[in-house]
Amino acid sequence: MNQDAGKTGAGLQPERRELLHRRRIFTNRNLRMESIEAIGFDMDHTVAVYKTERFNRLTFDMAIAALIKDKNYSPRITEVTWEPAGAIRGLCVDKKLGNLLKIDAYGHISRARHGQAFLDKKEKKKQYPRGRIRIGKDRYRIFDTLFDMPEGILYAGLVEMKDRVDGLLPMSYLTLYNDIRNAVDTLHADGSLKARITVDLADYFEKDPGLVPTLKKFRQAGKKLFLLTNSEAEYTAAVMDFLVGGKKGSWENLFDLVICFACKPGYFLARGDGEPVPKGKLPMMPNRKGNCYVGGDSFFLERVIGATADNILYFGDHTYGDILRSKKSVGWRTAMIVPEVEEEVAAMAPLRAQWQDMAAVEELLEDLVMEKDFLVSGQANEEDAQARLGELDKLIGEALGHRARLQRSLRAVLNPHWESLFREGRAASRLGRQITDFACVYTGRVSNFLNYPADKFFARPVEVLPHERWAQPEA
Ligand code: IMP
Ligand code: MG
Repeated sequence: MNQDAGKTGAGLQPERRELLHRRRIFTNRNLRMESIEAIGFDMDHTVAVYKTERFNRLTFDMAIAALIKDKNYSPRITEVTWEPAGAIRGLCVDKKLGNLLKIDAYGHISRARHGQAFLDKKEKKKQYPRGRIRIGKDRYRIFDTLFDMPEGILYAGLVEMKDRVDGLLPMSYLTLYNDIRNAVDTLHADGSLKARITVDLADYFEKDPGLVPTLKKFRQAGKKLFLLTNSEAEYTAAVMDFLVGGKKGSWENLFDLVICFACKPGYFLARGDGEPVPKGKLPMMPNRKGNCYVGGDSFFLERVIGATADNILYFGDHTYGDILRSKKSVGWRTAMIVPEVEEEVAAMAPLRAQWQDMAAVEELLEDLVMEKDFLVSGQANEEDAQARLGELDKLIGEALGHRARLQRSLRAVLNPHWESLFREGRAASRLGRQITDFACVYTGRVSNFLNYPADKFFARPVEVLPHERWAQPEA
């Protein structure tokens, strides 16, 4: 147990305080760990933390090779720009126009990137006259997982090449995207990507020393644990064995139930029982206790594990497949793993003072504008009003300038193209809103739970309505 976890932030060293904040569990809905009987984990990007940049680069390079080999693309596409920060989770691809879109919590397109450049206001209005889109259409695809980053980066790069080099990529933007999607899908499904990764797992995965102690702590608290992954049994066995270490296949002992090749989100619909993994067939998943299965559905899982609905807490990273569907279809409680939260907190921490200043400037601006509106409405004495209006205009101008400077310094530490994953200006981003709507809690990594008692009551923060803000203590 982290000795400082229960202390208040006040009085702690700033670095310590930043670390605690970075490693926190953030609560959207009350979660009483005492009433949780079974805890489930997704594997990829949840318990298994990828070295994202290495993995993305490998997928990117292999997809380029596949386009050249299988779709007869020109070998010149190997010159495409590798731009690690080119895509973030939550973006939407517009396959028809070749754009990547960032969407806010209200469905408005806030940024549109075509190739390596952002559309200006006028062009954005021309291409999206309504300012919003119907996401359910085939024309669009949302990036729900970190696995989607390489294809986003590759698409932006190839759209840029297509526009710049005449005749190099003669297909439509739609075909270009479909070809990339198809190439990436095949790399995952035919085992070629996994074959490269399993050769040297240490190259592609971070070993988190807190992972096994966290799982053991949950077990000691009487929780049943299960692993529920879309990965195939062989890959699951290799990755889990590497992450947990010890005697070959001993990782199985951490779980009461293991389900591979689950095909989430379909897993949350009735489909039948899982198939047992043959005992002894896989050295790294010998299925000693007979509790390892392939496929099936969540009803089978609930029967075997002996817990249902809101007595189950599921950890996952996929906004739709893990979090939204498990919550909506079968009523599980959800813990979303969002590694980006640690990155953003770490980046923002040194700018804490500016962040607070920003809130103060926003409030000041509201007050000044309100006073101006009052004077302009003609309710005050004409002479006094004229004098004060001049003063107010000056103050508003200064505050706007100050706000613009603060915005620039805050933006400078986030993603250079898309800024925050969680917000867009004053609103939450679409992904930020999905996280608050569907994840009961969220955090950067599973082992952050080690810092809390196993029977913790995670209480949601007090909701502050706009008219109550004035009563809040200075941040
Ligand atoms: P999970 O996150 O543990 O449920 O597993 C994710 C699995 O989905 C991994 O085995 C990935 O290789 C696989 N995967 C990710 N993206 C794709 C895709 O585009 N097509 C097919 N499989 C994918
Ligand atoms: Mg996953």
